Amino acid sequence: MPEPTIFELSSPGRQGAYFPEPDVPRTEIPEEILRDNLPLPEIAEVDVVRHFTRLSQLNHGVDTGFYPLGSCTMKYNPKVNEQTARLGGFAKIHPLQPVETVQGAVGLMYELQEWLKEISGFSGVSLQPAAGAHGELTGVLIMRAYHKSRGDHKRIKMLIPDSAHGTNPASSAMSGLKIVEIPSDARGNIDMDALCAECDDTLAGIMITNPNTLGLFEEKFMEVCDCVHEAGGLVYGDGANLNAIMGISRPADCGVDVLHFNLHKTFSTPHGGGGPGSGPVGVTAELAPFLPGPIATVIDEGGEEEPPLYGLVNPENSIGRVKAFHGHFSIMVRAFTYMMMLGGEGLKAVSEHAVLNANYLQARLRDTYKIPHDRICMHEFVAEGHWEDVPDVHALDISKRLMDFGFHPPTNYFPLIVPEALMIEPTETESKETLDAFADTLIQIAEEARTNPEMLQTAPHNTPFGRLDEVKAARELVLCCWFPEEEED
Ligand SMILES: *Cc1c(COP(=O)(O)O)cnc(C)c1O
Repeated sequence: MPEPTIFELSSPGRQGAYFPEPDVPRTEIPEEILRDNLPLPEIAEVDVVRHFTRLSQLNHGVDTGFYPLGSCTMKYNPKVNEQTARLGGFAKIHPLQPVETVQGAVGLMYELQEWLKEISGFSGVSLQPAAGAHGELTGVLIMRAYHKSRGDHKRIKMLIPDSAHGTNPASSAMSGLKIVEIPSDARGNIDMDALCAECDDTLAGIMITNPNTLGLFEEKFMEVCDCVHEAGGLVYGDGANLNAIMGISRPADCGVDVLHFNLHKTFSTPHGGGGPGSGPVGVTAELAPFLPGPIATVIDEGGEEEPPLYGLVNPENSIGRVKAFHGHFSIMVRAFTYMMMLGGEGLKAVSEHAVLNANYLQARLRDTYKIPHDRICMHEFVAEGHWEDVPDVHALDISKRLMDFGFHPPTNYFPLIVPEALMIEPTETESKETLDAFADTLIQIAEEARTNPEMLQTAPHNTPFGRLDEVKAARELVLCCWFPEEEED
């Protein structure tokens, strides 16, 4: 039974809002724009507060429980990030203000760019893109602009390993490139023979996720980059999985030419509700002239007494803007706060703990769940949510049952190369107790699958809604369960 909507709580004459007497003259509003049957709820303040507070608790969030959604890096979002993002000097400025009046904000953008360069090894960074996939599109457009600037018009082919994130082929296709899928080998690495066979003079480049979506580090990463470079192609690195390698391995040092970061994954800014995110792009010196602007720069170093003077510039061969104004600035403030709180050593520790936590969970589960690519993993790993002796229980049933215990399910049925995939990413912010509780629950569920499979097949049992028809829920999205009565003419 759905809870009553705020309109159903309405009682004629009840009031929760009080308006001051108008201090401007009253005027007549034209008849034709007035509606006398506008159905507004009449409700007291306390009921409004209870209604929305209750709604806010119906959803699972990282502040309410463990959220091991693979590839999404649902780490805890420290509250200090929110405090800094709300500082007046950041929150109450206007994007059209003259740059001299917002030096602190532009300085923050500059420092953030520098930190991202240091972490990745790149020469140039643009903070414009609004999310990871948007960063991909930007990066691929930069690759195209580079080839075009050299009169190299034949390069229309993008290689995408089958262990890549689904947004990679989408970004390439949107950029007008032809996609060629490269298979993985038995160890979960890119198949080198298949890759090299495609490296010819029509190659625009490769989009490679490393660590890949199996949670594995490409063991021949540098050979892959060399093979693509020798054919005149460029290497796009999907940096969304940077949480595994910060302070340990730098994509630019390995041969990557262009990469996006997910500030709303690696750098603890909130995500999951559709935004806003931030997906800055880093590039080599050769590609820097093509970056979208504006980019924060130091105009004048300043001196002992004088602070530096920051400005915003557009690179000479820029592909153009990809986002209004300066990108999602408030997300940049949160990410920069996170970096400042941790420092360089702290960021490295983040990656070490993220990898440790994933390996710990993998080790605790490998006797119960099949792990098809069972080797040391990075920040996540992929298990099979299926057993031969219980053919009627599937990954989805396991995930739904997890919800009864207050856990968000792992990513299901992705990557596609593992049947019945359960992709588990614990992140570094979870304690050993939480990891153990999760592992114990998954082990208990495996036992239930044998003793009481129906318990799984009909789960979840404890959530506000039971099992939804997922296809229908996505295709026929109903976000509002109340509609005003039809107006009568
Ligand atoms: C999340 C993710 C993306 C896309 O990022 P969005 O911000 O969701 O657009 C791309 N690649 C990988 C590997 C990811 O995990």
